[in-house]
Amino acid sequence: MRGVMSTAPVRRRLRVSGIVQGVGFRPFVHTLATGMGIAGFVGNDTDGVFIEVEGPEPDLARFATRLADEAPAAARVRDIEAVPVAAVGETAFRIVASHHAATGTALVSPDLRACDDCLAELSDPDDRRFRYPFINCTNCGPRFTITRRTPYDRPNTTMAPFAMCPACRAEYDDPADRRFHAQPNACPECGPTVSSMPPADDPIGDTRNRIAAGEIVAIKGLGGYHLACDATSDPAVERLRLRKGRLSKPFAVMVADLETAQSLAAINASEERLLTSRERPIVLLRKRPDAGVSDLVAPGNGSLGIMLPYTPLHDILLEPGDVWVMTSGNRSEEPIAIDNGEAVERLGSIADSYLTHDRDIHVPCDDSVVRILDGDEYPIRRSRGYAPFPVPLPFDVPPILATGGELKATFCLTAGRDGFMSQHIGDMENLETLEAFTAAVDHFTDLFRIEPEMVACDMHPGYLSTKWALGRGLPVEQIQHHHAHVVSLMAEHGRTDRIIGFAFDGTGYGTDGTVWGGEILVADYEDFDRVGHLAPVPLPGGDAAVKSPARMALSHLRTAGIPWTDDLPPLHGIPDIERSLLERQIDQSINTVQTTSMGRLFDAASALAGVRQTATYEAQAAIEFEALVDAAEGDSYAFGLHIDGGRLIVDPGPALASIVDDVRSGTEPGTIAARFHRGVADLIVAAALNVRADTGLATVGLSGGVFQNVTVTQTAKVMLTDAGFEVLVHRLVPPNDGGLALGQAVIAAARR
Ligand code: ZN
Ligand code: ZN
Ligand code: FE
Repeated sequence: MRGVMSTAPVRRRLRVSGIVQGVGFRPFVHTLATGMGIAGFVGNDTDGVFIEVEGPEPDLARFATRLADEAPAAARVRDIEAVPVAAVGETAFRIVASHHAATGTALVSPDLRACDDCLAELSDPDDRRFRYPFINCTNCGPRFTITRRTPYDRPNTTMAPFAMCPACRAEYDDPADRRFHAQPNACPECGPTVSSMPPADDPIGDTRNRIAAGEIVAIKGLGGYHLACDATSDPAVERLRLRKGRLSKPFAVMVADLETAQSLAAINASEERLLTSRERPIVLLRKRPDAGVSDLVAPGNGSLGIMLPYTPLHDILLEPGDVWVMTSGNRSEEPIAIDNGEAVERLGSIADSYLTHDRDIHVPCDDSVVRILDGDEYPIRRSRGYAPFPVPLPFDVPPILATGGELKATFCLTAGRDGFMSQHIGDMENLETLEAFTAAVDHFTDLFRIEPEMVACDMHPGYLSTKWALGRGLPVEQIQHHHAHVVSLMAEHGRTDRIIGFAFDGTGYGTDGTVWGGEILVADYEDFDRVGHLAPVPLPGGDAAVKSPARMALSHLRTAGIPWTDDLPPLHGIPDIERSLLERQIDQSINTVQTTSMGRLFDAASALAGVRQTATYEAQAAIEFEALVDAAEGDSYAFGLHIDGGRLIVDPGPALASIVDDVRSGTEPGTIAARFHRGVADLIVAAALNVRADTGLATVGLSGGVFQNVTVTQTAKVMLTDAGFEVLVHRLVPPNDGGLALGQAVIAAARR
């Protein structure tokens, strides 16, 4: 006989952690419990979601399984803890008020692209939200950028000033409704509205007309303002470049749909998936030669950054066939403008008009930039749609704040197994970015209730992020730049063993005070051996050399013992007097510092091949060099490799001599570019074989800004794999300095 005990109600307290707020989790729990005849309640608190359920034991077991298996698409359930409590005889299920506590780490959802249900309503003339730019539901809508504090409830968001109308309130209160407890729920009656400056009756139509007429419009979006203009118009794009002070760095474009994107770029299946993903990043794609965009959008670049609409406002604004430049609303190098005050006034010198709205942006968040490498995501900038979702850490880490580098600044705040990487903040070279950085750190420590015990930063004494870290009054761990690059890669792959790390980038402060950037390290989380590097050359004029690939070429030629002759492109236009000054500067080390930078070697090779002699942004010469690579070319330039003082020294001399020969014989720059890129991949394999012979290590990691060059990365990856290596490339954080903070935090934690 079955005992009465087996069906007597029991009660359990459940605790669900992960991304479970702002993703329709409580309504889901309510529907599930009600459907199963289970009693109890569900609520949000600062840790996540708490649930109490009461019913027969077998029902509660099935409930727990379905809770994990059937969670809403945008939720990420990390853990469900259950403890038995005494049954109280409850008979109904309800949603209860949120609890606030001083501790606890609820994850905050990134902003979510409008869902299919909302998009259908948006285009339905009979729906009360027809063409309403702020439509959302529990499955979609703004999250991170409107959240002032946790738990994620309407009063804690920038939707607080908008009181719901009766119709919206009824949806919000109805457990069966898609908008049940959708915190940003709104409609044209009660929610935010768009307006334009100068005012217009139809702000959307007015904006479209202005862009069609070649104007520049500042458009308030999700994480800040965009500056928009017609990407097919040379004069419009040129005006934007001049006013923004951004002469040649590529702009991204937004198009309404995949078909329009396909008219601009060749898009494979992985790229299509990424382009249409809910994260909606800017995807770097291979530009079609006949793409109908102005050459000024991404001059000299083989790639074009394309994104699809990611807010309902964009869906309404853009029509099929439109191609609009959508670039961050800022002056060059400053943080993105988010409010209607002073920051936006600064856009007045750039924009002809504004399309704005009255929902505040609490957190500035730039667009993410991602490309596909070998069928998988390869992040270039991790920001909107990804932040603040944590990167999983390979071991338990104490509360640490890592302040990152100088360019492409991000920080990382850790606790336990979570690495909360910030959104992209900008180049830490001015006061505005520093202020934005401080505000973002304060917001993260508040949001996730993490009080850092120590700070990790770069070793460069001149970085603002280092000075900022040293001024916090906390213990500081200064981390070597390239060690941080390699460990960021190891950490995101959960690797705890030693690996062979190639850290190739533009600039990083070395432990000997020189500028490193072509580094071969054997690294673990705590320490590294610098087992090899590019042969050092003088960096004429220090950091100013970034703007002068020609001077880098001259420095490399002189170091390689190749005479400066008039037929070589970097010498064109350099008068005799300047040549002799440069010679003395290099020979006598006046105002120079030694560098092993691989980024600067790419610049030098580009200049030598006649591609670019002066640059307006970092790595421009290298990017234009890569764009020319002739894929059909199979030859490669040889680098020298020898041992000196126990280290592998990579000598670019033979490769440079070959470029000089090819230039003199009139070889096409595309052929030279191909041979150089393949040569670098060859040298990586040769060096890796050498280190493997010494150490027995067979895992190679590729990190640092140079590996944004997918020609080198892809070629090296294939060749290393063929040589029996396991190859790690970045998948979660960028190879450039935007990923640095993750490595810094993990190294600091490992050394504790
Ligand atoms: Zn929706
Ligand atoms: Zn309403
Ligand atoms: Fe770097």
